[in-house]
Amino acid sequence: MDTALRRYDIIKKYRDKKMKCPFCGHLDTQVKDSRPSDDGLTIRRRRFCPECNSRFTTFERVQLRELTVVKKNGERRMFDRDKLAHSIGIAIRKRPVSAEQLEQLVTRITQKLESLGENEIPTSLIGKTVMDELKKVDSVAYIRFASVYRDFREANDFEDIVGELDSKT
Ligand SMILES: [Zn+2]
Repeated sequence: MDTALRRYDIIKKYRDKKMKCPFCGHLDTQVKDSRPSDDGLTIRRRRFCPECNSRFTTFERVQLRELTVVKKNGERRMFDRDKLAHSIGIAIRKRPVSAEQLEQLVTRITQKLESLGENEIPTSLIGKTVMDELKKVDSVAYIRFASVYRDFREANDFEDIVGELDSKT
């Protein structure tokens, strides 16, 4: 068997059996409920810690390929899903977007990038993909993300974005 696949299998088994409680560190938490997300791309598990009675959620998802991010200056690093979720999380702060919606958004973006058939993805393409998907979810979050991504040095950029939103509504 492919070693990467094997490793994934082992990690998955480990995760299924022994997910550590993030609150007290207890090693043996129980799965209370397991269900696929609406888009069918992730499985969401509600877990319970018998030690401290905490509840938390884990997600299992498909990974089609390992992506490498290529920065403008040519620097390469591993694609980091959590980092992506974090930067989108900042854009949606205090917006009516649930944790589950964020999770689905990140999954859609990741799958889109993985489906391109390329192992190396320029940051500009990631930014564009995030903007395309974010626009469908929340326009304020979209403008916030765009303001960071496009770096509003040119006032015209902002007008372009607002224009795009106007033409949509
Ligand atoms: Zn616990």
